[in-house]
Amino acid sequence: MPIMTGEDNKKHYRLLNCNEASKHHFERAANKLKISRQIRSWLKIPFREITVHLPVIMDDGSLKIFEGYRVQHNNARGPHKGGIRYHPEVSIDHVRGLASWMTWKTALLNLPLGGAKGGVVCDAKNMSEGELERMTRKYTQAISADIGPYQDIPAPDVNTDENVMAWMMDEYSKLSGFNPAVVTGKPVELGGSPGRLDATGRGVAIIVEQWAGDCGCELSETTAVIQGFGNVGYFAAHHLNKLGCRVIAVSDTGAAALNEDGLDLDRLLRHKEETGSVSGCPGVTSMESEEIFDIECDFLIPAALENAITKDNVGKIKARAIFEAANGPTCPLVEPELTEKGITVVPDILTNSGGVVVSYFEWVQNLQQFTWSEEQVDTELYRKMKNAFRRVVDKSEQEHVSLRIAAYMLAIEKVASAARTRGAY
Ligand code: NAD
Repeated sequence: MPIMTGEDNKKHYRLLNCNEASKHHFERAANKLKISRQIRSWLKIPFREITVHLPVIMDDGSLKIFEGYRVQHNNARGPHKGGIRYHPEVSIDHVRGLASWMTWKTALLNLPLGGAKGGVVCDAKNMSEGELERMTRKYTQAISADIGPYQDIPAPDVNTDENVMAWMMDEYSKLSGFNPAVVTGKPVELGGSPGRLDATGRGVAIIVEQWAGDCGCELSETTAVIQGFGNVGYFAAHHLNKLGCRVIAVSDTGAAALNEDGLDLDRLLRHKEETGSVSGCPGVTSMESEEIFDIECDFLIPAALENAITKDNVGKIKARAIFEAANGPTCPLVEPELTEKGITVVPDILTNSGGVVVSYFEWVQNLQQFTWSEEQVDTELYRKMKNAFRRVVDKSEQEHVSLRIAAYMLAIEKVASAARTRGAY
């Protein structure tokens, strides 16, 4: 992919899918690192791609065939690791990109793991619990030969949660004996780690705190706006609130909710659970979902899906910094416009890495059959995220590159070195 200037980006603008976006960033960082053509082509393509077709009996007695994927991108540094997404727009190319982001994320955080991702094309929100369970069990059977504690360890992502992980663990254990280390993000009573449920959101708050500290700004004088009020969005809001930051607006697919004095997050969560939306909650002004990008704030936190920030809304954004809690929320072709406006973008592979860090802790606890305290998990998460933030900022200053390119450079260097050292034989 040729390197384009900001002007070229505007002229040739289009939305890039996850795989194209990941390669776009990879090429820029690899150019800076002067990585050889051979190593580039090795690191860019996935090691293994699996497509499965899952026959599932639906509640009305009909048979429906779902298509699912597992893409294992790279395992030079350790077993493949990455979440499972249930969404109507999942595709193999989508999952390829998400899998490569896991490789860069685990390397950046210095975890002894590689990268993978999975997904099933389905409208999970409109399926019953029984249908989801049967589909999950079929999916696990279909990919069981290629996952395992030392091979590939799935975790939750969009529309999958600890129940889905429990079914996966149970199905895998039927085939290979009790084996909780095959997935992370499990319920605590089945070998899940204390602190995993809120780890990604907590990690987002840690990164915001570090960035604010570097800029010399008091968190109690700042405001945050969050797109997406699911696992990551809610817990990011919760932990930012605890640090003193005022979360003034959040959104879901249907609406946005604003209160300039700060939202009552627990009331909003209860309202969303009862009604299915943040809209109409007492004490908030309800707005169109997309209006979330018009709100002036210090920190804008996209925590929903990829391509949230595009040419349609980039001009409206009035934030000091964007913290990418979702994977790939900023279309790469509009990023130069944000830079021109003086808005810092803190990249996804750093900002949302808290989830995989605590997944790593969960895996370690399962392998050792030993449980850590929540305090130990939180302390270690804080230490790892703070150190990764420092490394990215230092690299960015040394190399005169954006935080994103600095993060990719650090990650690619590690994976390339492991791949080279292990050899291609
Ligand atoms: P989730 O399913 O719990 O929540 C997603 C939320 O986004 C939902 O509330 C949904 O309504 C909302 N949403 C979707 N489209 C939207 C739109 N256009 N506008 C506003 N809101 C919208 O998923 P999650 O686990 O919170 O994941 C969110 C993002 O974080 C994803 O990109 C995921 O890959 C990434 N991520 C998740 C984890 C994790 O541990 N769960 C870890 C790292 C990264």
